[in-house]
Amino acid sequence: MMMKKRRNKSSKKGIDIYSFGFSLWFYLSVVSVIAVLAYLFLGLLSNLLFYQELKENEVKGVANDIIDICSDSDFLFQLATKEFEEDVEFAVLRKGSTYVYYKSTGFDDRYIVTYLEEYGGQDNVVTTLKIDNDRYSFCVLDALVNEGEVVQAKVFVYSKAVIRTTTTNILIRTFVYIAVVVVIISLLIALIISKKLSKPLKMVGEMAKQLATGNYELDVGEAQYSEVEDLANTLSLTAKQLSQTEDLKNELIANVSHDLKTPLTLIKSYAEMIRDLSGEDPEKRNEHLQVIISEAERLNVLVNDLVDYSRIEASKYELNLTELDIGKLVKQVAARFTVDINYRFEIVVTNGLNVLADYGKITQVVYNLIANAVNYTANEMYVGVFVFPDNAGRVKVEVKDSGMGIASEELALIWNRYYRTKNNHTRGKAGSGLGLSIVKSILEKHNAEFGVESEVGKGSNFYFFLPLSSLEKNLKEQH
Ligand code: ADP
Repeated sequence: MMMKKRRNKSSKKGIDIYSFGFSLWFYLSVVSVIAVLAYLFLGLLSNLLFYQELKENEVKGVANDIIDICSDSDFLFQLATKEFEEDVEFAVLRKGSTYVYYKSTGFDDRYIVTYLEEYGGQDNVVTTLKIDNDRYSFCVLDALVNEGEVVQAKVFVYSKAVIRTTTTNILIRTFVYIAVVVVIISLLIALIISKKLSKPLKMVGEMAKQLATGNYELDVGEAQYSEVEDLANTLSLTAKQLSQTEDLKNELIANVSHDLKTPLTLIKSYAEMIRDLSGEDPEKRNEHLQVIISEAERLNVLVNDLVDYSRIEASKYELNLTELDIGKLVKQVAARFTVDINYRFEIVVTNGLNVLADYGKITQVVYNLIANAVNYTANEMYVGVFVFPDNAGRVKVEVKDSGMGIASEELALIWNRYYRTKNNHTRGKAGSGLGLSIVKSILEKHNAEFGVESEVGKGSNFYFFLPLSSLEKNLKEQH
């Protein structure tokens, strides 16, 4: 219920936020935003970590440059004209702190004082001091300045190394621009990917919708991915099976209603005949009553099949396994048929073959097979029932007939629900088309191997195997 509500609400807006496509787009976008933020963060971090070092190296470089020229006679001229690192400044102080030369943009003397306080006038110490919230990198050199006379001097090289310099600002701005562009591009790419990925899913969704509306002729579009293709194929197979079942069901209803109608009409007419005409004539009455009885029997068979089938189809039954003598069971079932002397029955049964099986269900299997053999045995009226052990520790039960046989292309189909062979729609052989599917369901539940061999015009041989429950015991009993 919740799902339905949510879905309706969101689909009204045009974007279904619970759709696969949207989720995919969203997650891809989140990933790309995270990637960009990580890039930004790492960029800034590395800037913070290495900027200080960079500044100190700059200061060191300029200090070395000054050392190189300080003993030259045109030292001051060189200082004034040489192009030093832009951010780096310096001051040359005579001993006694009077300036000889300086390159500065507002550098405060007290920073030099602070430096001297910290380092006691040591030479060549490259370090970073924090003065009034700003950071300064310092290097102080002891130099012999040659300016006509030899002057002992100190050279202070320093650079403002605040965390946020213009360079850092430019870097940050560039990072942010790149990040925005990358985010926009990745959102677009995510949109394209999600559209592309969700397209085949939408197609499968459409197929399922068609199925729900009862359209079994599904159009399978371009699936693109093997998983979706599998799904689409499964759906179209399901559709095919559903449509087959639907056809078979319709056929069954048509057959069953026809098969129910005919005996009912006959029963009604013969009962009326007895009431109006033959009631007094015992011979005629018995003849008519016999018709009523056999038609009622036919109805019984049909209704029983339907009842059995619906119970078995519901598949809720559990097997009630007991040890039973399969030969004895088969003989008992066959005996129900042998009362009809018009048939030539051959029953060859090995006694004492015990199997673990559900008595009622196996009885039903044997009954359905023999009933089919009797039904379809045709002119020769031969029905053979055999029970014997094979040499793999199993019992084989065979039911043969001399009937019309089954065409090879129909052999696999006869086990399906409602299936009746093409040449089997004469009223005399009226069945529900359910007998063999009941047999199949029960034998499968017993994990029993089963099958049929048949030759058109010669007859059929239906068989199944059940494992002997205790081989030794059976052998002993046989000897
Ligand atoms: P039905 O109630 O129609 O006999 P079944 O499921 O028992 O239904 O059998 C399915 C179909 O298989 C039958 O309609 C018949 O066409 C074919 N069939 C079954 N048993 C035999 C047999 N012994 N000989 C020939 N055809 C058979």
